[in-house]
Amino acid sequence: MTSNEVKNDYEVRLVSKPESFKKFIPKIHKKLSTAKRKFDFSNLTCDIDTNFVPEPDNQMLNILNTLPFDDKDGGVWKQGFNISYDQSQWNSTNKLKVFIVMHSHNDPGWLYTFDEYYEKQTKNIFENMLKYLTKNEKLKLIWAEIVYFSKWFDSLDEISKEKVKMLIERKQLDFVTGGWVMPDEAASHWYSVLLALTEGQTWLKNVLNITNIKSSWAIDPFGHSSSFPYILKHAGFENLLIQRTHYSTKKYFAKRRELEFKWRQLWDLRGKTELFTHMMPFYSYDIPHTCGPDPSVCCQFDFRRNFCPWNIQPTDITELNIELKSSLLVDQWKKKSQLFKTNSLLTPLGDDFTYQSDWEWKKQTENFEKLINYINSNSEFNVEAKFATLQEYFDSVKNEMKIEQFPSLSGDFFTYCDRNTHYWSGYFTSRPFYKRTDRILMNYIRSAEMLYSFADFKETKDFDTKLEYARRALSIFQHHDGVSGTARDHVMIDYNKMMTRGIENSKYVIQQSIHKLMTDPISYVSDLNFKYFEFDDLQSADGNDEARILIVVDEYKKFIVIHNSQTYMRNEIIELIVNTDKSCVSDAEGNFIEAQISPIVKYSEKDVEFEKEIYKILFKVKIAPLGMSNYGIIKNENCTTTSLANVKIYSENSNFSYPGSIEFLPLLNSNVLKFGTNDILFDEKGLIQIIIKNSRNFQFSLNFMTYGTKSIKGQMSGAYIFMPDGPAQLLNIKEKPTVFVIEGKLESSLTTNLSCVNHNVILRSDTEAIEIRNSVDIQTLNNTEIVMRVKTQVKNYNIFYTDLNGLQYVKRKILSLVPLQGNYYPINSGLFIEDDEMRISLFISTPLGGSSLDSGEFEIMQDRKLDQDDERGLQQGVKDNRKVLNIFRILIENRKICEKLNEKYPMGFLTKAAYKEQKRLIHPLEKLIYTKEEWPGMKNYFGNNHEEHEDFEIVAMRKVPHVEPNAIGVVVHKTNFEKCEKNEENFLNLKRLLGLHSKNIFKSSITLLEKNDQVIEDEIAFCHMDTKGFILT
Ligand SMILES: [Zn+2]
Repeated sequence: MTSNEVKNDYEVRLVSKPESFKKFIPKIHKKLSTAKRKFDFSNLTCDIDTNFVPEPDNQMLNILNTLPFDDKDGGVWKQGFNISYDQSQWNSTNKLKVFIVMHSHNDPGWLYTFDEYYEKQTKNIFENMLKYLTKNEKLKLIWAEIVYFSKWFDSLDEISKEKVKMLIERKQLDFVTGGWVMPDEAASHWYSVLLALTEGQTWLKNVLNITNIKSSWAIDPFGHSSSFPYILKHAGFENLLIQRTHYSTKKYFAKRRELEFKWRQLWDLRGKTELFTHMMPFYSYDIPHTCGPDPSVCCQFDFRRNFCPWNIQPTDITELNIELKSSLLVDQWKKKSQLFKTNSLLTPLGDDFTYQSDWEWKKQTENFEKLINYINSNSEFNVEAKFATLQEYFDSVKNEMKIEQFPSLSGDFFTYCDRNTHYWSGYFTSRPFYKRTDRILMNYIRSAEMLYSFADFKETKDFDTKLEYARRALSIFQHHDGVSGTARDHVMIDYNKMMTRGIENSKYVIQQSIHKLMTDPISYVSDLNFKYFEFDDLQSADGNDEARILIVVDEYKKFIVIHNSQTYMRNEIIELIVNTDKSCVSDAEGNFIEAQISPIVKYSEKDVEFEKEIYKILFKVKIAPLGMSNYGIIKNENCTTTSLANVKIYSENSNFSYPGSIEFLPLLNSNVLKFGTNDILFDEKGLIQIIIKNSRNFQFSLNFMTYGTKSIKGQMSGAYIFMPDGPAQLLNIKEKPTVFVIEGKLESSLTTNLSCVNHNVILRSDTEAIEIRNSVDIQTLNNTEIVMRVKTQVKNYNIFYTDLNGLQYVKRKILSLVPLQGNYYPINSGLFIEDDEMRISLFISTPLGGSSLDSGEFEIMQDRKLDQDDERGLQQGVKDNRKVLNIFRILIENRKICEKLNEKYPMGFLTKAAYKEQKRLIHPLEKLIYTKEEWPGMKNYFGNNHEEHEDFEIVAMRKVPHVEPNAIGVVVHKTNFEKCEKNEENFLNLKRLLGLHSKNIFKSSITLLEKNDQVIEDEIAFCHMDTKGFILT
C-alpha cells in the first residue's frame, strides 16, 4: 500500500468524523509517510535485518524516556484527565456502538487452591451460566481459563453437554485465548507459555472441535511482555486485550487516542509480526473502572454490590430512575469513547469470580437489559448497546477502520505501577523456590516428550496420562498468581505438589524411553513397572547434595546414560557423587577417560566438614544433538586417568580429612583461585574481587546486599510490590568464614558460607563462563530482600539488557524520574551490560528480579522475606521462604570482534557462545544411573546420526495423537545471534536433525492443533527469530 492510498482513505472517513477526531489524523499520516519514504522493506525476505533500526510509530523505551511520571491529579479519573465530548459526533446514522462484554475472572489458585475455588465458586458460575444463557439468547459470556471449563464440562451428563455446545454454537459462550490459564508474563518461560496455550486449545479442539479463537484476553497479568503477541501471532491470533500497564503509559496513549495499536516485535521492520492490541484505559478491570472514567458513577452500575467506596450506592433500575441512570451511563460511555479512534466501544462487565449466584445473574442482567432497552429506544442518545463477545467488538473496530490506520508499537509494558510509586517488581523474585521448580519441571517435560516421541511405544495410554498430568501441572503454574509467587502459602504448596508429581511422571517417561532407545530391539523386554534408572539431580530446587544419588562404585561397571536435549553437540563436564576416590570412568567405547575427584563440603548447623567416603567425580562427556551416550564407572585401585583435586582451606580449624593434598592457609585480603589461564582474586569473605583472564585484569567485585522496606503503612513491600527503604546495604557478615579452594584439572572451585548464603564459584575446562551457585536461606530474617551485586569496569552508563521469557533481550535504560523499584525488571533467563570493549552476561536458572542501577553494575535479587501484606488482596506477607539454589553463569566476552548494532537499535542479541551458556542452565545434560548390574542388549549411543543444527532450537517435540495416532508435532525456533563469526544456517533439515528420514512433514500452527500443507523440500527456510510448527507422520 502506498501513502497516497492511506490519504484517500482518511478523506473518505473524514466525511463522517467529528472535529475532535480530525486532530489525530495528520499525525498518523505523517508518521506513516515518513516511514515509507525512508526504506522499502517490503522486498525483504524476512522481518529482521539488523542493519536497519526498526521505526514503529511508538517505541516504548523512547516513550518512557519522555514521560514526566508526575502523577498529576486528573479529577474523577485520578490518573488521567477530564474528558469532554461534542454530542454532534453521533447521530441516527452514526451511533455509538457499545459492546457490553460479560466476563468472570477466575484465578486457578490465589487465596484458595484451584480445587477449592472450583468447588466453592467456579462450578456455580458455570451452572448459572447454563441456566441464564439458555433462557435468554441475548446474554453472552466470555471465558478464558480452560483449566476450569474443562473440569466442569467433563463432569456433565450428555444432555447438559449438548446444551453447552448449543451455547457455543450460538456464540453466547465464547472462549477468549483458550489457554489453560491466563499466564504471568514476567516469570514465565515462553516454552511454558506456549505449552499452556497448547494444552487449553488442544482440549477445546478434541472435545468441542474449536480451532478458531482469534482474540486473546489478558486483564490481570502484572505487566505485559511482547513475547505474548509473538506467541499469539504465531498461533493464529488476530487480537489481544491487555490491562495492567503503568498508569502514566495509559494516560500517554489515552491522550493520543493510541490505546489501540498494532503491537509488533522489536526487530520487525515491516509489521509482519503485528497483532492488533487494545489497552484498557483505567485503573482496573472491575465494573467501577470499565464503564467510563468516573468510578463513582460506574460503581452504581455494579448491581450485585451493596457498597461502593465512592459513597454513591447502586440501586435497581426502576421506571422512576431509568432516565437519570441511562443518562449517567451513556455519559460515561461517551467519555470513554473519546479515548479511542472508532465509534465502537468496549465495556467489560465483570470482576473476579463474578456471576456465581442465581441472584447475581438476575441482578446484573435484568438491570442492564432495562438500561439497554431504554437507551437503544431513546433516539436522543444515539447509542446502540448490546451484550457482546470480545470478538464482536474487535470485528466492529476493524470494520470501521482499516488496520493500517492504527499506530504500530514495539516494546513491552514493564515495570507495572498501579498507583503512586507502587511498582510491581517484587513478584519478579517472590517465592524463588517455586520459580526454580517451574524451570525444573519445564525441562523434564520437554525431555520426556522428546524421548517419548523417539521411543515410539506400542502401548501408550499410561505414558500419555502421565505426560498430560505433567503438562497440566506446568500449565496451571503459569497462572499469574502461580509462577509469579503471589498466592497464599497453602496454594503454593498445592502447586508444588502438582509440579513434584509432574517431575516424577516426566522422569518415569524419560527413563522408560531411554531404556527402550538404548537397548537393542532384539533384547528389549518391556517392564513398565521397573525403574531402570535413578536420576542424579542437581536440579532439585533446594540443591541439597543429600538429595543426590550416591553411586556405590564397585568391581561391576555402573552405567551412566547422559542425555542431550539440545540440537548441537555438547562437550561438557558433568559431576556425579561416588563412594570412593578409586573410581575410574570409561566412555561409550569402553576407553578410560580423564576424571577428577573433589571433596564435598558439608555444612551443618554448627560446623563445616568434608563428607566422609563421599566424593564428587567430574568427567567430560560428548553427546550428539538430541542424543545419548553411555558412560561407565568402575572401582580401580590403580586408576591412572582419575586425579585428585588439591584443597586449600582458609581457616584456623584443621580438622579435615581427604585422600588428596590439603593445605591450610590464613585468609588475607587478597587470595587466589587458579584455573588454567584464569585467576580469581577473592577477599577475606571468599568473595570475588578481580578476575584475571589471559593476563588481563577485570574488576569484578561481588557482594551480597540487603534492602529493607519502608515503615509507613500502605507503602511496604509485599508479595507483589517492592518498596525499599533506600539503597541496598552490605549484608552483615558476622565473622570470617572458612573458605575452601579446590583446584583440579577439570574444575576448580571456591566455597564460602556467609550469613544466609552458601556461595560457590566454579571454573571448568569446558567453558569460558564462571558458574556461581548460591544456596540461599533467609528464613531467619525479617523484612529483608537479599541481592547479589557485581561491580565491573564496563562503561554501560545507564543502558542494560534484560530478557523477556527467555525469547529476546530488550534494551533498558535507567529512568531518573522513576524510583529504584521502578527500574527493576524481570530477569527471566539473563541480563547483560556492555561497552565497546566487552560484554558481561549473567544467565540464571531461576527467574528473578534485577537491574543495573549504576554504570558497570548489575544486581540480582536472590530471595525476599516480607512480614506484611502489600494491600493487593493477598492479605498475607511472604514468610514461607524455603532454602533455594540459584545457579548463575557469568560470561565475559570481547566485543571487538562482533558486528555492533546501531546505538538506536531497541534490543540486543546473544553471541552463540552466550546462548549455549544460557541453554546449559535451563536444559542441563540429564544424568541417569542404570540400576541393574546386567544390561542385555545395551547400546552405546543414540542419535549419533542426528545432524547438528546450532542455530535452531526445538521448543517442543511431542506426540500429537489428536492429529493422527502416531503423529509427532515439532515446534522449531531460529534465534538470532549477534554476529561475531560468519557461518550461519538459514535452512533446517528437520528429518536429518531428528534422524526420522521416513516421515512426511506437514506445516502446522505452533499449537500443533492440525496438519496443513505438506512440506516438500527437505531443506526448510527460516528467518531469524521465527518459530514454526510441523507435524510429522
Ligand atoms: Zn487474576
